[in-house]
Amino acid sequence: MSNRKLSVDALVIGGGIAGLQAAIDLGDQGYQVLIVEKAPSIGGKMISLSKVFPTLDCSSCICTPRMAAASHHKNISIMTYAEVEATTRTHDGFEATVLQKPRYVMEDDCTGCRLCEFACPVELPHEFEGGLGARKAVYVPFNNAIPQIALVDLENCILCGRCEKVCPTKAINFLQEPERVTVEAGAVILATGYTLSDMSAKEQYGGGRLKNVLDGLQVERLLAPHGPYGRVLRPGDGKIPDSVAYVQCAGSRDRSLGVPYCSRVCCMYAIKQAMLLSGSLPLVDITIYYMDIRAFGKGFEQFYQNAKAMGIEFVKAKVAKITEDDQQNPVLRIEVMEEDGRVEERTHDMVVLSPAVLPGWDPSRAVLVDTDDEDGFVHCVQPKLAPGYTSQAGIFVAGNAAGPKDIPDSIVEAGAAAAEASAYLRGIGRRGYEPEPASGDRSALVGEVT
Ligand SMILES: Cc1cc2nc3c(=O)[nH]c(=O)nc-3n(C[C@H](O)[C@H](O)[C@H](O)COP(=O)(O)OP(=O)(O)OC[C@H]3O[C@@H](n4cnc5c(N)ncnc54)[C@H](O)[C@@H]3O)c2cc1C
Repeated sequence: MSNRKLSVDALVIGGGIAGLQAAIDLGDQGYQVLIVEKAPSIGGKMISLSKVFPTLDCSSCICTPRMAAASHHKNISIMTYAEVEATTRTHDGFEATVLQKPRYVMEDDCTGCRLCEFACPVELPHEFEGGLGARKAVYVPFNNAIPQIALVDLENCILCGRCEKVCPTKAINFLQEPERVTVEAGAVILATGYTLSDMSAKEQYGGGRLKNVLDGLQVERLLAPHGPYGRVLRPGDGKIPDSVAYVQCAGSRDRSLGVPYCSRVCCMYAIKQAMLLSGSLPLVDITIYYMDIRAFGKGFEQFYQNAKAMGIEFVKAKVAKITEDDQQNPVLRIEVMEEDGRVEERTHDMVVLSPAVLPGWDPSRAVLVDTDDEDGFVHCVQPKLAPGYTSQAGIFVAGNAAGPKDIPDSIVEAGAAAAEASAYLRGIGRRGYEPEPASGDRSALVGEVT
């Protein structure tokens, strides 16, 4: 395994919207930045969302330009499909060991033409589509992935060699080795985001086995313009659903699962998805079973009221159990919290759970910082006056790595973490040079977001 060395001012771990924004803000100030992203593309969860609350902008239309701005920025380099294994403090910053995983495709030679993908005979559940669509054993991660480079899933590859034969640049290389890269950096920004709790944790809701019980991210893909089916169909049998139910707090605020906190985004994305489903399927009946509706942000209450005015039914109820009938329809046993607390059974065509938002990564061993005992998110030592500060000077945190939050809050935190990192870098004698005003000028965004 070779050992390359890189030296940058700042290392950003995680290439979701928070990491991209922090990197762009630092790069615009002239700092040299490296983004390390564990997935094969940057973009994080935002690039997989359909539209975003409360404005209903197309998510990929506003996320793709940010991805492109980072990837074309002359002060930013990006390693995808790579992970930080360990970090140590040095006399003037940090030294991180980054593992570059092999794609079995030569990055410099692949043109993203996808001929390998068309030739591959293996079909597997597509992670980007929440397992709903199929991908091949050699594949480009998704249509607007950055970089547009294929990778081979060697565990599922049958080594038939068809991809090698059709590749016009001979980029397939089954002998590619993992590479360890040593990165020296003055400061580190953690932007490793979130993951959703696994549906198997909720045995009373079918434990992930009921085909027409999905999670919120899967429904984002059903609603996306280039989603797995091209329209909204329930995955169990391809039927157009006439009745869809949302089950809120299906993991959050549940001490039995070790998640006592509120995940903050679920009420709003459920309302958003309900509105979008009503647009796609005008005859659909939608019910949201909730404990409380938390519509706390700017424009959120009006968004909620609009949903009610559209005819979306809100039922304050606890969902005790989900089973299915012989037509694969989910059957919900509910205790209605308003009125007399009566217990009822209601049948829907499709159910969407709002699982808990959990930390995307535990950085405590590899990156030295403390995490919170209660929830595992990165511990902020000054949550009120300097929310980007971690327990280690020179390591900052942004976005969902510090706790569940929506996109605007993630972006604001990313800007704050970049400002803190910039001040820290100046303090240790590193100054940005050749500033780049273009991507940092927010007025350029006014035309993008309407
Ligand atoms: C179903 C659903 C719908 C939503 N809809 C909306 C909406 O409409 N509007 C809104 O404002 N918000 C919405 N959100 C919230 C939104 O997804 C988040 O606010 C946003 O994506 C957070 O960005 P982030 O960069 O902090 O994290 P992420 O998007 O999770 O990005 C983190 C990145 O870090 C990478 N990473 C993780 N660990 C490592 C590691 N060890 N090394 C390297 N890289 C790593 C991950 O692969 C990922 O690319 C929704 C959330 C859900 C669950």
